[in-house]
Amino acid sequence: MSVSAVEQAPETSSARLKLTEIFLSLQGESTLVGWPTVFVRLTGCPLRCQYCDTAYAFHGGAWHTLEQVLERVRAYGVRHVCVPGGEPLAQKACLPLLGALCDEGYVVSLETSGAIDIAMVDPRVIRVVDIKTPGSAEVARNRWDNLAVLKEHDQIKFVLCGRQDYDWARGILDQYGLTARCTVLLSPSHGQLGATELADWIVADRLPVRMQMQLHKILWGNEPGR
Ligand code: SF4
Repeated sequence: MSVSAVEQAPETSSARLKLTEIFLSLQGESTLVGWPTVFVRLTGCPLRCQYCDTAYAFHGGAWHTLEQVLERVRAYGVRHVCVPGGEPLAQKACLPLLGALCDEGYVVSLETSGAIDIAMVDPRVIRVVDIKTPGSAEVARNRWDNLAVLKEHDQIKFVLCGRQDYDWARGILDQYGLTARCTVLLSPSHGQLGATELADWIVADRLPVRMQMQLHKILWGNEPGR
C-alpha cells in the first residue's frame, strides 16, 4: 500500500483522526520508559515489517475530531502522551494533533517508522524514529533524509532480528555518526534474537547505545491496550 493510499483527513481546525485505541499504560520503550503515559494509537501503516506486533492497527479504527482526542487525553490526567501507530504520520492530521498536545503542556513523543518525512513535526515533540533493518523486510522504505533533521532529544530505534542486522546497524551508526547526535536504541526482535545475546554483543563492543526491552510486554504480554 502506498502512503497516498492511507486515509487522509483535511488539514483544518476540524481535522479528524482515525484511532485504533487510546489508553493509559506505562511507557515500555525509549528514554521515557516507565512513565505513566497516554497512548493515542493512530490507524494505518504503509509498511509490513515481518515482526510487526501491531497489525491490528492496519485497518479499522474510528474517526475522532481533534478536540475529541484532546478531551480523552485530558481525562487521564497524566503528563506524558505518546502517539504510535501503525504509522501515525500517514494521517495528515497527526501534525496538528502533536502541536496541540505540546500546546497543552504534555511531554509528547511520536513513534514513527522512518519511512515518512519527519521535518514538519513540531520541534517540541520527541521523535522516536525507526531505522528498518534488512531483517525487517522493509529496509527499502527507510527515508534517509530524516537523519539530517534529528535533534538531540530525538531517538533512533533499530529492532534487530539477528547478528546480520546488528552488524548492519553498526555500519549505519558509523556512516551517519548517529550516536553523537541523539540517543540510539537497540531492541531484540521478540522470538528472533535473544535479549542476552544482544546485551553481550553491545557490552563486548562497548557500543554507546541503549538496549531496551519492551517493559509493557514483560508486565502484561502482548495485549492490545496495555
Ligand atoms: S512500521 Fe511499525 S506498525 Fe508498520 S508494519 Fe512496521 S512495525 Fe508494524
